[in-house]
Amino acid sequence: MEYYAVEEFWDRAAISRAQTVRLKNAVERAAHSPYYREIFAAAGISHETIRSHEDIVSLPFTSKDDLRYGYPDKFLAVSTKALVRLHASSGTTGSPIAVCHTQDDLDVWAELMARCMHMVGVRNTDVFQNIAGYGLFTGGLGIHAGAERLGCLTIPAGTGNTRRQLKLIRDLNVTVLHIIPSYALYLGNALMDEGVDPRSLSPRIALIGAEPHSEEIRQRIEYLLGVKAYNSYGLSEMNGPGVAFECLAQNGLHVWEDAYLLEVIDPETGERVPDGEIGEMVLTTLVRRGMPLIRYRTRDLTRILPGDCPCGRKHRRIDRITGRVDDMFIVKGCNIYPMQVEHVLMGFPEVGENYLIVLERIDAMDQMRVLVEIRSEYFVEDMRALTSLQRSIAQRLHSEILVTPKVELVQQNSIPRGEGKAKRVDDRRNIAS
Ligand code: AMP
Ligand code: ZN
Repeated sequence: MEYYAVEEFWDRAAISRAQTVRLKNAVERAAHSPYYREIFAAAGISHETIRSHEDIVSLPFTSKDDLRYGYPDKFLAVSTKALVRLHASSGTTGSPIAVCHTQDDLDVWAELMARCMHMVGVRNTDVFQNIAGYGLFTGGLGIHAGAERLGCLTIPAGTGNTRRQLKLIRDLNVTVLHIIPSYALYLGNALMDEGVDPRSLSPRIALIGAEPHSEEIRQRIEYLLGVKAYNSYGLSEMNGPGVAFECLAQNGLHVWEDAYLLEVIDPETGERVPDGEIGEMVLTTLVRRGMPLIRYRTRDLTRILPGDCPCGRKHRRIDRITGRVDDMFIVKGCNIYPMQVEHVLMGFPEVGENYLIVLERIDAMDQMRVLVEIRSEYFVEDMRALTSLQRSIAQRLHSEILVTPKVELVQQNSIPRGEGKAKRVDDRRNIAS
């Protein structure tokens, strides 16, 4: 049967009605989890105090730290027996957060993902290559399930190995790719270097997401690979991909408001900002059973695009993500916190007090350099010792953050220090260009 989701075409009144009922249900379900039971009881909140979806503002926020505190089971609203899958955020090698799903949750997620793909023209006649990490990262299994739900011939290619990716694309006449933007550019250039024109290959659509990227990068990907590229947004805490997705108009991402309640707030005051103004996106799961989340502060900065989308869908659109409220940064699709880097560096006795993470975009690829001050007594060591230190720092960083940075050992006190808080990250990538 051809895929069709009635909710996709709901008008505002239908969305509003459903949100009111679903928010009540979400609060009732959340109250079964140890975390919300306690919080709601203290604040006198119950599903009976929710009369409309507008009453969301009376509910408390949930932060990433709350999720860390609740790890692994304080947020679970059902028994382990009802759970079938666990995912985790990619930035969590240090302090984990986990999200558990029931079979129902997985079915809803696959439906939402199928809806996104169908919206941009993917059909059951397509051959879909998922060039994304499988495992705890949600971009692998999440999008995979959506593609199968649509009925695509789905290839779980995973990341890396350019030759094998190319062979699969050619042998199977792949028509749709899912690929993170930086890898899309890398793949395109690597193919050119091998004398293959990526534009001559079969894919016509690329789903790109998981990391911030500009409109210019999208256009480069489209040109390089000869595809139409659509922005895919999601986060593990809200299942993963399938939260918001661009339509054929390629002007903003529709948030599926039958499944997620969208707010954009001023991160300082917590008050809602008017449409069109940038703030922190806050999302509530409206239909999730295993682990309902109320007013989750995503830390992602965006704005609600005012006005109707030419495609006719009434689910509101957000602009592409312009940054993060906190200091987390993303390199090659991996979420990294400066504290993780510091933790590794400070484990080496040779390392001094100061370090600086420099992020650059070279030939459209993210590069991470870590300048590390070395104590004077070690700096006089012979080259061999320093090279081996450099290598072991890079290796340990890789096992912590899953990216191999370029490590540069510098003399004590050579990294400029400002007054006040130390600047740990120098992000020279210009997302806007
Ligand atoms: P994770 O839960 O580890 O998959 O990471 C989710 C985070 O990745 C989000 O909170 C965003 O910061 C980022 N992200 C995901 N999709 C996009 C996108 N399309 N554009 C920009 N950032 C994204
Ligand atoms: Zn649209």
